[in-house]
Amino acid sequence: MKTIQHWINGSPAAGTNPQTALVFNPATGQEQAQVALGSAADVDAAVAAASRAFETWSESSLTQRTQVMFAFRQLLVDHEEELARIISAEHGKTVDDARGEIVRGREVVEFACGLGDILKGSFSDQVSRGVDVHNFRQPLGVVAGITPFNFPAMVPLWMHPIAVATGNTFILKPSERDPSAANFVADLYKRAGLPDGVFNVVHGGKSAVDAILTHPGIEAVSFVGSTPIAKYVHEQATAHGKRVQALGGAKNHAVVLPDADLDFAANHITAGAYGSAGERCMAVSVAVAVGDAADGLVKVLERKALEVKVGPGDAPGTDMGPVITKAAQERIENAVTTAATQGATIVVDGRGLKVEGHEEGFFTGPSLLDHVTAEMDAYKEELFGPVLAIVRAESLDEAIALINANPYGNGTALFTASGEAARRFQRKINVGMIGVNVPVPVPMSYYSFGGWKDSLIGDSPIHGPEGIRFYTRPKVVTTRWPQPTQQTTAGFNFPTSS
Ligand code: NAD
Repeated sequence: MKTIQHWINGSPAAGTNPQTALVFNPATGQEQAQVALGSAADVDAAVAAASRAFETWSESSLTQRTQVMFAFRQLLVDHEEELARIISAEHGKTVDDARGEIVRGREVVEFACGLGDILKGSFSDQVSRGVDVHNFRQPLGVVAGITPFNFPAMVPLWMHPIAVATGNTFILKPSERDPSAANFVADLYKRAGLPDGVFNVVHGGKSAVDAILTHPGIEAVSFVGSTPIAKYVHEQATAHGKRVQALGGAKNHAVVLPDADLDFAANHITAGAYGSAGERCMAVSVAVAVGDAADGLVKVLERKALEVKVGPGDAPGTDMGPVITKAAQERIENAVTTAATQGATIVVDGRGLKVEGHEEGFFTGPSLLDHVTAEMDAYKEELFGPVLAIVRAESLDEAIALINANPYGNGTALFTASGEAARRFQRKINVGMIGVNVPVPVPMSYYSFGGWKDSLIGDSPIHGPEGIRFYTRPKVVTTRWPQPTQQTTAGFNFPTSS
């Protein structure tokens, strides 16, 4: 069976730990590879390579770094199909959906291609007589990214192009469930001219993560994953003196007002709920039907859910693939059962779905639950599967209060024809990313991505301007060039300008 190795100092590396984890094809349920599980010694080897590379990479010119980014971006275009198939085979999402994540990740590379402009400092002439001030930003050193299974290309791409372009060196610890995309990207970087050691991959689980969080040679950690692990990473890494950005889980609500076009709203909510089998941190998992929008909305959502074509991700015409593991399939189906016992109505039941020829695959069909309340587990828990819960509310203000009481605050959407309602919603809602008639409002790369509350631990969103801030630290320089003959007196009082 194929073994997926680490990537250290520009080459595959077997590592020191003989233990491996199995990598499945979720569409067939079969094992297809094994992945090395990194030890503290492997993390140490990656840090050593990255530290050496930092000495020269941090001194490289903006032109050189920009050229690497342009070349890397072109390679991502040229190899989009190949990478999409690698993602689909290990994750289960459709090849087209995988292509979408590559495109959205590539946009961060495009942002990083504008490095020369983004990294400009500012200059103030004559702040005092004969004195000027300017500032600039410098890279941190060796930084690390720990990423989830659901976007094996895009989420790391939220991190490393900005980290690398700003002069840092990077260690990626991808999800052990779908590790191959990381190595593919490492090879593309090498072909783009990135010096060895600037981008490294250490595979593994908790041991590799713990070694990263405590390693004195790592300056900053970017994490994206579930909220409990985000909290753990934030606690551990900050306790070890590191800068941390930690994005967590989500429960995203789409509110539908009675004035909305129900067909339009249902179409978009269906795609937002069941696309990628609901395994997106921006997936719509709750539809809040306001007033008399409810009955009509449920009817259209039911019809649309029944139309979703479930199958292997590489089969033409598939809308939705399997979920990531057998354990996830069981957990999601149990959650639907529990919802029914707690009083929800199962409008569409995805449990037990079998896909012909793929009977062992980790498939579960789209489920639609009505009359869900805030007290039910199906509402409280992040199910991370193709389950859409409908909660009914009397008014927009009641919907806003419901969402604000939820511990998560990643994304939300409002479907309406009213500008007044949309404005009230975006001002009052305690959520970081908001869509108005847009179900999955993932910001473009030149804005930053991040939720509120338990969806983001600490205070740093990811990519865009916040990414530049995160991966660099500022210096401010106050300068005086006195003429040799100029007499100046040095005051003993605290300096003020004159
Ligand atoms: P996860 O938290 O299980 O794993 C994320 C990373 O942490 C992986 O690399 C994993 O190996 C590592 N990890 C897992 N358990 C660990 C432990 N006990 N100690 C140390 N490290 C550990 O998340 P997942 O299941 O891979 O991904 C799904 C989750 O990610 C969902 O909660 C989803 O909402 C979230 N997510 C959030 C965003 C966002 O932008 N907010 C984006 C994508 C995914």
